Amino acid sequence: MSKELPNPDGHLVVVGAGIAGVRVVEATRSAGWAGPISLVGNQPGLPYDLPPLSKNIISGTWTAKQAELISYEMLDALAVRYFEFDPAVQLDRRRNVVSLNSGIELTYDTLVIASGARAKPLSGNPRVHTIRTMADAEQLRDRLNSAAPSTVVVVGSGFIAAEAAAAISRYRDHAVHLVCRGPGPCAKSVGPPLARWLRELHEKNGVVVHAQRTGTIMERCGAMPLEVILDDGRTLVADVAIGGVGSEPNLEWIGSANIPTDQGVLTDADGRVVGTPDEFIFAVGDCAQWGSSADGVSRGQHWTRAVDQARHVGLRLGSGNYARDADTTRPATVPYVWSDQYESTIQVMGNVSPEDDVHHLVLDDTTAMAVYGKGAYVTGVVSVGLPRAALKIRKAMKDSRRIEDILAHV
Ligand SMILES: Cc1cc2nc3c(=O)[nH]c(=O)nc-3n(C[C@H](O)[C@H](O)[C@H](O)COP(=O)(O)OP(=O)(O)OC[C@H]3O[C@@H](n4cnc5c(N)ncnc54)[C@H](O)[C@@H]3O)c2cc1C
Repeated sequence: MSKELPNPDGHLVVVGAGIAGVRVVEATRSAGWAGPISLVGNQPGLPYDLPPLSKNIISGTWTAKQAELISYEMLDALAVRYFEFDPAVQLDRRRNVVSLNSGIELTYDTLVIASGARAKPLSGNPRVHTIRTMADAEQLRDRLNSAAPSTVVVVGSGFIAAEAAAAISRYRDHAVHLVCRGPGPCAKSVGPPLARWLRELHEKNGVVVHAQRTGTIMERCGAMPLEVILDDGRTLVADVAIGGVGSEPNLEWIGSANIPTDQGVLTDADGRVVGTPDEFIFAVGDCAQWGSSADGVSRGQHWTRAVDQARHVGLRLGSGNYARDADTTRPATVPYVWSDQYESTIQVMGNVSPEDDVHHLVLDDTTAMAVYGKGAYVTGVVSVGLPRAALKIRKAMKDSRRIEDILAHV
């Protein structure tokens, strides 16, 4: 028999002060948690949001302050003890203790693992930039500021690479190349026709897109530019190189604690770590592989999913009825992600795969929409520059995935 009710007078320890960790402490306290709450962060300064890094920070249009998620005053008002720049280094489940780098030991009654993910390195070369932390983004911004007009090569097929290429070409005087595997940027998430449309969008904005290509970054001597060797044999010489090739979870600190992991920490449909029936251990956000994920059981890598999971766990914990009424706050079963490139907001609902049938496709100059499906059901919808239609479709997809039901909202 598992223990079902965490003690809301106990000590809640949340490891990871990204969006998921911050939303957990806010939701838990607002739902009535009376005990002490500790939020453990491994970076200096206040917690900040990640989406602005590849859009507003590298372009120089925002300061770091604008990306902050919460103030010190708010943390005080929530009576949250924030351990800044003091990473968790070990979890001892036998003693219910999280050890921090400083030597502090936090004894928890309830633990939430929210330590997110880090950028996968494209090469071991420190001169190749990645964008996952504020320090990464500021370093890249400063490098772009200090370089005379030069060549920037971005290697990556996902949203972060495409956003970086867009932000740099739009706001800065550099020649930008984007190397991506599919027929255009973000093909895995938006499907081939929309990827080709995005490719044109980038090209209209001056980016040279090397589609259906991979790139290997090679060091030349000393301060010489880097070389990006494409798989068709061509070489791009890069003054600045950026890799956006995915992420991996930050789970080293739980390494010896025997927490079940696959791509991330495995949880049930409510975020409780599987195989811990007598403990209150939860995982949320990019480090977690939720059993409830609509797209099978993949690790989260999107903002809305992290926020929904955090809110769900926080409200359940704070209200002291974690096991009951979970349906009311359980994260939506329609995955959602957005991306901003140039003037366009791209919204993806559901999951698209390249083999899906295309049931509806409109490609205009500044807007686009594609409805993808398998058999009688919609798998995913991608819209560009059509926020009201996207909202309607997103709502409709919660009730039905039948193609005729979704096409009625297009
Ligand atoms: C550049 C960028 C742009 C993005 N843009 C979008 C977008 O437009 N739309 C969208 O849907 N999604 C976007 N995402 C994805 C989205 O931001 C993430 O899914 C979301 O931030 C995940 O939140 P998280 O709190 O789980 O993880 P994180 O934000 O990674 O936070 C985890 C925190 O825990 C810290 N940590 C790690 N190890 C430890 C430790 N041992 N002790 C203490 N703390 C630790 C980390 O440093 C980090 O601060 C973007 C991501 C990036 C990187």
